Amino acid sequence: MNVGFQLFQLQSIDSEFDRAQKRIGEIQSAIAADKGVELAKKRVESMEAELRKIKSDFESIDYETEQRKVKKTQSEANLYSGRIQSPKELQDLQAEITSLTKMLVELERQSLEQLIKLEKAEEKTTALKDELKKVLTEFETSKSRLIAEKNTLENTLKNLSAKRSSQESQIQEDKKSTYEHLRKMKNGLAVAQLQDNSCSACGSSLTASQCQQARSGSQLFICPSCGRIVYGS
Ligand SMILES: [Zn+2]
Repeated sequence: MNVGFQLFQLQSIDSEFDRAQKRIGEIQSAIAADKGVELAKKRVESMEAELRKIKSDFESIDYETEQRKVKKTQSEANLYSGRIQSPKELQDLQAEITSLTKMLVELERQSLEQLIKLEKAEEKTTALKDELKKVLTEFETSKSRLIAEKNTLENTLKNLSAKRSSQESQIQEDKKSTYEHLRKMKNGLAVAQLQDNSCSACGSSLTASQCQQARSGSQLFICPSCGRIVYGS
């Protein structure tokens, strides 16, 4: 029984298992949150805050305008009522009306300015909301694709587990523990291949006799450089 080959097959199963598991992890984080969606949401939120501020400024101007209008109407009524006789008082009243008129012109200018701002902000908010909808739809589409991929991968894991059990049962205990130990020590890769007379994991070249040992299969050959089992077919 070629133990090198057996361990090489076990390694292939385990590597495939690791890849599938890693991909499932990536999918899980991808479907949990999406950067594009988060960014689009933040943009809408900040634009809505800006819109609220503009609306509130607009309402303040509106309120102030109403107050001044009421005051002006009252002052005008007083001026023309005939009740006030004192020239000084009449003069003050006239001056007050002139000042209120100026203020009202200025407030109207401000109100118009705010209205333009408001329209622009409303347009921008609508555009950003549309963008968010689009990004969300895209996210949902990719999410269903990713979930399908995850289901396939989970099936793959099940199949690989079954395959592994059967493969493992054929391997001698001491060889198996050497393999498991190396898997832990060598970042998951215990068995390398002989490729162009070199170790496929670390790339170091092997002598003719070392290559022969790697191919023989009766004994495990360990790469002198990286310490992994090297299997040659
Ligand atoms: Zn090596």
